[in-house]
Amino acid sequence: MTTPALARHLIDGELLGEPMKERANPARIGEIAVLSPSGTPADADDAISAAVAAQPQWARTPLPARGAILLKAAELLRERTPQVAADLVREEGKTIGEATGEVGRAIGVLQFFGSLGWASTGSTFSSALPGTTITTRREPIGVVGLITPWNFPIAIPAWKAAPALISGNAVVLKPAELTPMSATHLAVALHDAGLPHGVFNVVHGGGRVVGDAIARDPRVTALSFTGSTTVGLGLEKTLQTRRARVQLEMGGKNGVLVIDDADARRAAQVVSAGGFSLTGQACTATSRVYVTPGIHDEFLDALAEFAGNYTPGDGLDNASTMGPVVSDDQLQRDVSAVQQAIDGGARLLTGSADSDGLRFAPVIAIDVEHTAPIATEEIFGPVVAVIDVPDYEAGLSALNDSAYGLTAGICTTSLKYSSDFADRVQAGVVKVNRPTSGLDLHVPFGGIKESSSNTFREQGHSATQFYTWEKTTYIGTE
Ligand code: ADP
Repeated sequence: MTTPALARHLIDGELLGEPMKERANPARIGEIAVLSPSGTPADADDAISAAVAAQPQWARTPLPARGAILLKAAELLRERTPQVAADLVREEGKTIGEATGEVGRAIGVLQFFGSLGWASTGSTFSSALPGTTITTRREPIGVVGLITPWNFPIAIPAWKAAPALISGNAVVLKPAELTPMSATHLAVALHDAGLPHGVFNVVHGGGRVVGDAIARDPRVTALSFTGSTTVGLGLEKTLQTRRARVQLEMGGKNGVLVIDDADARRAAQVVSAGGFSLTGQACTATSRVYVTPGIHDEFLDALAEFAGNYTPGDGLDNASTMGPVVSDDQLQRDVSAVQQAIDGGARLLTGSADSDGLRFAPVIAIDVEHTAPIATEEIFGPVVAVIDVPDYEAGLSALNDSAYGLTAGICTTSLKYSSDFADRVQAGVVKVNRPTSGLDLHVPFGGIKESSSNTFREQGHSATQFYTWEKTTYIGTE
């Protein structure tokens, strides 16, 4: 039995809070993975006060010096990767390979934004007025709140915090309650890299307690949230009421269209990787597939074969190819979605509505109606619904008939269909012959419809736009 990791708040440069709240390891019944403090609104208030006090000096710190701290934090996380990845597996459940990849993503994000220490931050224009130059620059927005989910417990905090910090903001982060340790590792790396006290703060605790206190505080001038659509839309109202900036990344129901001219095995590999990696617990996971008749049987045979490569087990065991479901609540959602599909007339090609503890094998549901809940509602588990469509047009229109619009894919060897799909599909990210999940860190990411606030994109250069506002200066030179 491993001793629990101890997560702490980081407020004004100090590790605080009594770690009392238990988080069980989802792969090992009875093992406590982490103890963390349960924050209060007073803790959020202290963190926001620290951020308000620290932000002006941080914004005046030369940009290359800010970048150097992010680069140093990346180096520290690299040195600490074995420990950080193991703690991530214990609290969240994904496999050690997936967790190591996720820590690598956090490192890459810190490096990308750290390197912006040498980037240009504005433009120069000539003016219509004689003897005048016009410049633009991007100013930090102030104190930003970050509210993050459990499924990428270090990568998401990193990809929100790094653009905020390089842009000269101070941050208050509220990580998901299920995964407090990964965010603590990020905070400690930034602290050890020399980030001034108060510039990056973490407060653990409940969404309705700490998250709500951050969202309502008038000193928090922007909030970036990733999580469920219901919570996100509620936060949007709160932030809009006080005219603060808000960025939301919410649910997805990501579809893939597999058409006759695709390579069936390649398509099955793309769909299984998108559907079953990370136990299907990614907002970009593939959860519905539209298949045309000519490839149908060959594709399903191959998909069932690839699904067999995902065996749920303890993520720390190198033999496991899929981690457990994160929690009992999530398992109930997975199980009832599958049971409901069976009751509605679907058949299961692989998997069942049963689990072994939190180990839940990949489910492929076939004979699914396009309007069935399993084809329309987000589940967040390793469950793929297969819907038969007569042709490309019918598949595209069924795929677009969704409340969500995060990622979407097509498997085809045709340039004509791939480019038409990219033009007409309603999704923020389009993948041709690639899994819907899995993103490069240097390009924009975000969705449309109920998946995203669809104002500011995350990741890459686009990310800094949310954390800054543009100032235009006219300079008379004579
Ligand atoms: P998930 O299903 O991924 O847990 P949630 O939307 O419930 O999605 O949670 C995502 C993040 O939002 C978590 O950090 C959670 O604590 C936080 N949260 C939940 N409810 C609220 C709320 N009412 N106000 C602010 N934050 C919240």
